[in-house]
Amino acid sequence: MPKTPSEILSAIAAKLGLDRVGSAGGDLDVTSPIDGKTLARLPSSSTDAVAAAVERVETAFRAWRRVPAPQRGALVRVFGEVLRERKQELGTLVSLETGKILTEGLGEVQEMIDICDFAVGLSRQLYGLTIASERPGHRMMETWHPLGVCAILTAFNFPVAVWSWNAAIALVCGNALVWKPSEKAPLTALACRHLLDEAAARVGGVPEHLCEIVIGGPQIGAALAQHPKIPLVSATGSCRMGRAVAPLVAGRFGRTLLELGGNNAMIVAPSADLDLAVRAILFAAVGTAGQRCTSLRRLIVHRSIERKLVDRLVAAYGSVPVGDPLAEGTLVGPLIDKRAFTAMQAALEAAKAEGGTVHGGARVLAERHPDAYYVTPALVRMPQQTEIVRAETFAPILYVMPYDSLDEAIRVHNDVPQGLASSIFTTDLREAERFMSAEGSDCGIVNVNIGPSGAEIGGAFGGEKETGGGRESGSDAWKAYMRRATNTINYSNELPLAQGVKFEVG
Ligand code: NAD
Repeated sequence: MPKTPSEILSAIAAKLGLDRVGSAGGDLDVTSPIDGKTLARLPSSSTDAVAAAVERVETAFRAWRRVPAPQRGALVRVFGEVLRERKQELGTLVSLETGKILTEGLGEVQEMIDICDFAVGLSRQLYGLTIASERPGHRMMETWHPLGVCAILTAFNFPVAVWSWNAAIALVCGNALVWKPSEKAPLTALACRHLLDEAAARVGGVPEHLCEIVIGGPQIGAALAQHPKIPLVSATGSCRMGRAVAPLVAGRFGRTLLELGGNNAMIVAPSADLDLAVRAILFAAVGTAGQRCTSLRRLIVHRSIERKLVDRLVAAYGSVPVGDPLAEGTLVGPLIDKRAFTAMQAALEAAKAEGGTVHGGARVLAERHPDAYYVTPALVRMPQQTEIVRAETFAPILYVMPYDSLDEAIRVHNDVPQGLASSIFTTDLREAERFMSAEGSDCGIVNVNIGPSGAEIGGAFGGEKETGGGRESGSDAWKAYMRRATNTINYSNELPLAQGVKFEVG
């Protein structure tokens, strides 16, 4: 008899510090999308509790900023070791709380480990420039300092990886953290804090309250966004959330790092390797039940190969195993909740009304799991890019549209409000280079011959337009978590002024 999500949670709870979580009860019902049943009940944080948490974290920051960056890196290194030890349990919890298939739950923890490795190296590379001064006997340089308390708001669909992208880097930069996880996935957050505490205990000398968690929905997020002692709010979620959070932070001249919705496309050109393209499309459009910010949502296919590609995709879609995400062989788990299912069905109805032909998209396993929402992935042929195609529906819907010229394909590609991830399948070098050029894709992630999803941590991650402009993870994303001071040092006996200005008394 297979175990229920709540039985599986009981078996791994102690290793994640969750054995007593939920026993006190609370107003927040945490359910598993696998069966729709309650995993735990947690109390939401009050606004006073948020303020008190920020005070504690600020005190921790004052101590942490004095610790040399390579020593801060030691905490992150040991955190990475703890994650390696608990990868199986934490990955399983990700699957229980979000409905991801196990390999993706484990992959998320691997991403945490990878960012820890990256951040440890970074802890010895927080470089500033040395700049030539125009004044004799002077030197200029940049120094990078931590910002202070950083608030991290996370979405349900990457409940641990996105936090770790922010946390690992913000910590080596010398910041302290308040984390508001999604109200749909707070258990993974509590587990991460337990594992970070364990790493801190092994390392020693780490101030208490370096990372606090506050539990709740938009109100708690808004309280953090408005808090005057939080210089940076890093917020991941829908464009709707970004539209609410950004003005609150801007109103007090705080900084935001926004990682919002995507509406990611792939152009498939006549020269494309279709075998590779079909595999890439399946993973990007169907994987994670279409609930990645980088999920493939729009397929722009050259008219000469559209019929052939659609036939292959319809056949492949028909054989994708949908079901228990912890069972061997399943490729598509459940949607997060009923709301996601309703939004998916409404989008399919709108697509039909706008001229689309829908394959798939129906609810399955409803008798076995009346409170959970499993669907077959949907493929929708559209005559052109209509309003519903231009919106992000967080579900496995792939709209397919034909094109005749690359100019037209790029225009359609960029004609959406979001600008996260993009890709082209072509073996024509000119087309590939054009897509990556200034007149090509307008997204933050631009790929050739791989799908738009599944980024590695080494590159900067994020997107343009309504995706919010933030960059996290690799490259020089660390600069978002620090403030830059420009230093001018006079080692001469004179006081020359810049620009030749004379200012002498008498
Ligand atoms: P969501 O916007 O509903 O919630 C995200 C987080 O913001 C949650 O913690 C939520 O409580 C909080 N929140 C929501 N409204 C708020 C408000 N008005 N004020 C303050 N806080 C608020 O998103 P979701 O459903 O959890 O996640 C799916 C969305 O996230 C999709 O749009 C997806 O594309 C996006 N996403 C983006 C990225 C990225 O890196 N660009 C990564 C993951 C998810």
